[in-house]
Amino acid sequence: MKSLIQFFAHVLFGVDMIVAMLAYALVLSVFPGDWNWWMLIGSVLFAHLPDLDMVPYFILKRFFGVQFRLSSHRVIGHYPIIVIPLVVVCVIGLADNNEMAWLTLAMIGIVGHFIHDSTEPQGLHWFSPISWDRITLMRGWPDKVSRYRWIRIHFSKGAAFNKSALDEFAQRVDPLMRGQILVWGLSAVLLLALYLI
Ligand SMILES: [Zn+2]
Repeated sequence: MKSLIQFFAHVLFGVDMIVAMLAYALVLSVFPGDWNWWMLIGSVLFAHLPDLDMVPYFILKRFFGVQFRLSSHRVIGHYPIIVIPLVVVCVIGLADNNEMAWLTLAMIGIVGHFIHDSTEPQGLHWFSPISWDRITLMRGWPDKVSRYRWIRIHFSKGAAFNKSALDEFAQRVDPLMRGQILVWGLSAVLLLALYLI
Protein backbone atom coordinates (compact mmCIF):
# COMPACT_ATOMS: atom_id res chain seq x y z
CA MET A 1 0.00 0.00 0.00
CA LYS A 2 2.85 2.36 0.89
CA SER A 3 4.53 1.58 -2.43
CA LEU A 4 1.26 2.25 -4.29
CA ILE A 5 0.89 5.66 -2.62
CA GLN A 6 4.56 6.44 -3.39
CA PHE A 7 4.00 5.43 -7.01
CA PHE A 8 0.98 7.70 -7.50
CA ALA A 9 2.58 10.59 -5.56
CA HIS A 10 5.63 10.31 -7.76
CA VAL A 11 3.55 10.38 -10.94
CA LEU A 12 1.24 13.18 -9.73
CA PHE A 13 3.95 15.50 -8.37
CA GLY A 14 6.74 14.35 -10.69
CA VAL A 15 8.93 16.46 -12.94
CA ASP A 16 7.13 15.10 -16.01
CA MET A 17 3.81 16.40 -14.63
CA ILE A 18 5.36 19.85 -14.09
CA VAL A 19 6.64 19.82 -17.70
CA ALA A 20 3.13 18.85 -18.90
CA MET A 21 1.47 21.70 -16.99
CA LEU A 22 3.99 24.30 -18.17
CA ALA A 23 3.76 23.04 -21.76
CA TYR A 24 -0.02 23.50 -21.74
CA ALA A 25 0.32 26.95 -20.08
CA LEU A 26 2.70 27.97 -22.89
CA VAL A 27 0.42 26.62 -25.64
CA LEU A 28 -2.59 28.34 -24.12
CA SER A 29 -0.71 31.64 -24.00
CA VAL A 30 0.87 31.49 -27.47
CA PHE A 31 -1.72 29.81 -29.69
CA PRO A 32 -5.28 31.03 -30.30
CA GLY A 33 -8.12 29.08 -28.71
CA ASP A 34 -9.91 28.63 -25.42
CA TRP A 35 -9.18 26.29 -22.53
CA ASN A 36 -9.27 22.71 -23.81
CA TRP A 37 -9.31 19.86 -21.30
CA TRP A 38 -8.34 17.37 -24.04
CA MET A 39 -5.18 19.33 -24.68
CA LEU A 40 -4.29 19.32 -20.98
CA ILE A 41 -4.90 15.56 -20.79
CA GLY A 42 -2.90 15.15 -24.02
CA SER A 43 -0.03 17.15 -22.55
CA VAL A 44 0.08 14.88 -19.47
CA LEU A 45 0.02 11.79 -21.69
CA PHE A 46 2.81 13.07 -23.97
CA ALA A 47 5.05 13.86 -21.00
CA HIS A 48 4.67 10.28 -19.72
CA LEU A 49 4.43 8.48 -23.06
CA PRO A 50 7.99 7.03 -23.10
CA ASP A 51 7.37 5.27 -19.76
CA LEU A 52 4.61 3.17 -21.34
CA ASP A 53 7.41 0.78 -22.28
CA MET A 54 7.43 -0.12 -18.57
CA VAL A 55 3.93 -1.62 -18.75
CA PRO A 56 4.80 -5.06 -20.23
CA TYR A 57 7.63 -5.44 -17.65
CA PHE A 58 5.28 -4.40 -14.88
CA ILE A 59 2.59 -6.93 -15.94
CA LEU A 60 5.09 -9.76 -16.40
CA LYS A 61 6.61 -9.16 -12.98
CA ARG A 62 3.37 -8.44 -11.11
CA PHE A 63 1.10 -11.11 -12.56
CA PHE A 64 3.40 -13.76 -13.98
CA GLY A 65 6.21 -13.65 -11.45
CA VAL A 66 8.90 -13.12 -14.09
CA GLN A 67 11.94 -11.87 -12.20
CA PHE A 68 14.08 -9.05 -13.55
CA ARG A 69 15.00 -5.54 -12.64
CA LEU A 70 12.29 -3.10 -13.60
CA SER A 71 14.99 -0.46 -13.99
CA SER A 72 15.91 -2.13 -17.28
CA HIS A 73 12.56 -1.10 -18.77
CA ARG A 74 13.98 1.65 -20.97
CA VAL A 75 13.44 0.01 -24.31
CA ILE A 76 11.57 1.18 -27.41
CA GLY A 77 9.72 4.04 -25.67
CA HIS A 78 13.07 5.57 -24.73
CA TYR A 79 14.59 5.54 -28.24
CA PRO A 80 14.33 9.26 -29.14
CA ILE A 81 15.26 8.87 -32.80
CA ILE A 82 12.37 6.43 -33.25
CA VAL A 83 9.77 7.91 -30.88
CA ILE A 84 10.09 11.59 -31.90
CA PRO A 85 9.52 11.16 -35.69
CA LEU A 86 6.76 8.61 -35.00
CA VAL A 87 4.90 11.00 -32.70
CA VAL A 88 5.32 13.91 -35.15
CA VAL A 89 3.77 11.82 -37.95
CA CYS A 90 0.90 10.62 -35.70
CA VAL A 91 0.12 14.11 -34.38
CA ILE A 92 0.11 15.66 -37.87
CA GLY A 93 -2.06 12.79 -39.11
CA LEU A 94 -4.54 12.84 -36.26
CA ALA A 95 -4.89 16.51 -35.28
CA ASP A 96 -7.66 18.00 -37.42
CA ASN A 97 -7.00 21.55 -36.27
CA ASN A 98 -4.53 23.24 -33.93
CA GLU A 99 -1.80 21.06 -35.42
CA MET A 100 1.02 23.34 -34.28
CA ALA A 101 -0.37 23.57 -30.75
CA TRP A 102 -0.60 19.77 -30.47
CA LEU A 103 2.86 19.37 -31.98
CA THR A 104 4.31 21.86 -29.47
CA LEU A 105 2.69 19.97 -26.57
CA ALA A 106 4.02 16.66 -27.88
CA MET A 107 7.58 17.86 -28.44
CA ILE A 108 7.91 19.67 -25.09
CA GLY A 109 6.43 16.68 -23.23
CA ILE A 110 8.46 13.97 -24.94
CA VAL A 111 11.79 15.77 -25.33
CA GLY A 112 11.37 17.09 -21.75
CA HIS A 113 10.90 13.49 -20.57
CA PHE A 114 14.07 12.34 -22.36
CA ILE A 115 16.08 15.26 -20.94
CA HIS A 116 14.71 14.54 -17.46
CA ASP A 117 15.63 10.84 -17.73
CA SER A 118 19.10 11.84 -18.96
CA THR A 119 19.81 13.72 -15.73
CA GLU A 120 20.09 10.35 -13.95
CA PRO A 121 23.65 8.94 -13.62
CA GLN A 122 22.86 5.95 -15.86
CA GLY A 123 21.88 8.34 -18.69
CA LEU A 124 19.85 7.57 -21.77
CA HIS A 125 20.88 6.00 -25.07
CA TRP A 126 19.80 8.92 -27.25
CA PHE A 127 20.78 7.34 -30.56
CA SER A 128 19.68 3.74 -30.03
CA PRO A 129 19.35 1.49 -31.95
CA ILE A 130 22.14 3.07 -34.05
CA SER A 131 24.44 3.60 -31.05
CA TRP A 132 24.09 2.15 -27.55
CA ASP A 133 26.20 4.83 -25.90
CA ARG A 134 24.44 6.30 -22.92
CA ILE A 135 24.55 10.06 -22.41
CA THR A 136 24.02 11.59 -18.98
CA LEU A 137 23.29 15.25 -18.19
CA MET A 138 23.88 14.80 -14.45
CA ARG A 139 26.69 17.37 -14.46
CA GLY A 140 24.71 19.84 -16.58
CA TRP A 141 26.36 18.93 -19.88
CA PRO A 142 26.31 15.79 -22.07
CA ASP A 143 28.70 13.18 -20.76
CA LYS A 144 29.16 9.61 -22.03
CA VAL A 145 28.43 6.92 -19.42
CA SER A 146 31.22 4.36 -19.31
CA ARG A 147 30.35 0.67 -19.42
CA TYR A 148 31.85 0.30 -15.92
CA ARG A 149 29.70 3.08 -14.44
CA TRP A 150 26.55 1.70 -16.11
CA ILE A 151 27.09 -1.81 -14.73
CA ARG A 152 27.86 -0.45 -11.25
CA ILE A 153 24.67 1.67 -11.21
CA HIS A 154 22.54 -1.06 -12.73
CA PHE A 155 23.53 -3.61 -10.13
CA SER A 156 23.25 -1.31 -7.14
CA LYS A 157 20.31 1.08 -7.44
CA GLY A 158 17.10 -0.81 -8.00
CA ALA A 159 18.74 -4.23 -7.92
CA ALA A 160 15.57 -5.80 -6.63
CA PHE A 161 15.01 -9.13 -8.29
CA ASN A 162 12.92 -10.50 -5.46
CA LYS A 163 10.70 -7.53 -4.80
CA SER A 164 7.34 -6.74 -6.33
CA ALA A 165 7.26 -4.33 -9.27
CA LEU A 166 5.75 -1.61 -7.07
CA ASP A 167 8.28 -2.12 -4.26
CA GLU A 168 11.10 -1.95 -6.75
CA PHE A 169 9.71 1.25 -8.22
CA ALA A 170 9.33 2.78 -4.75
CA GLN A 171 12.90 1.80 -3.85
CA ARG A 172 14.35 3.14 -7.09
CA VAL A 173 12.79 6.60 -7.30
CA ASP A 174 14.23 9.59 -5.53
CA PRO A 175 12.04 11.08 -2.80
CA LEU A 176 9.98 14.10 -3.77
CA MET A 177 11.85 17.28 -2.89
CA ARG A 178 10.41 20.39 -1.33
CA GLY A 179 11.55 22.55 -4.28
CA GLN A 180 9.82 20.19 -6.68
CA ILE A 181 6.51 20.47 -4.79
CA LEU A 182 6.89 24.26 -4.80
CA VAL A 183 7.42 24.39 -8.59
CA TRP A 184 4.48 21.99 -9.00
CA GLY A 185 2.28 24.34 -6.92
CA LEU A 186 3.38 27.41 -8.90
CA SER A 187 2.67 25.61 -12.19
CA ALA A 188 -0.79 24.61 -10.95
CA VAL A 189 -1.53 28.20 -9.87
CA LEU A 190 -0.42 29.46 -13.31
CA LEU A 191 -2.76 27.00 -15.01
CA LEU A 192 -5.62 27.95 -12.69
CA ALA A 193 -5.06 31.64 -13.50
CA LEU A 194 -5.11 30.89 -17.24
CA TYR A 195 -8.32 28.88 -16.76
CA LEU A 196 -10.04 31.71 -14.87
CA ILE A 197 -9.11 34.65 -17.15
ZN1 LIG B 1 11.29 7.58 -18.73
